[in-house]
Amino acid sequence: MPLPQPCLLCGARDGIRRDGRWHCAVCDWRVGDAPDPDLPPPRIDVVYYLRWRERIKIGTSRQPRQRLTAILHEELLAFERGDRTLEQQRHREFADLREGGEWFRADARLTAHIAGLSGGIRPWDAYARWVADAYRG
Ligand SMILES: [Zn+2]
Repeated sequence: MPLPQPCLLCGARDGIRRDGRWHCAVCDWRVGDAPDPDLPPPRIDVVYYLRWRERIKIGTSRQPRQRLTAILHEELLAFERGDRTLEQQRHREFADLREGGEWFRADARLTAHIAGLSGGIRPWDAYARWVADAYRG
């Protein structure tokens, strides 16, 4: 069902009605609630998986929206919650597929790992939920 107003946190327009209140269908933020303006935006570190042709970049960012616009890619495959430590772990895990820098060959082992991350949720929807969860504390 369409929300009376787009979600304040993630901009989604679909909502669900629960306990007499509208909730965002994507991140579950309660419509009408406003994040405390005195609090800094929550810090959400993610490891991202970006595809360009037959290669996949594994990197990390705490500002994925800005970061991803700066990287040439065809498709965002997944986000995984984690920072530099997890990124380094993934780089070691798939070291045999490394083609240079943070780019890895899109081998079946790597694509299976990525497919297992999403749980059928689109990357930006997953990110919106993490942000909403962090705001809720
Ligand atoms: Zn939302």
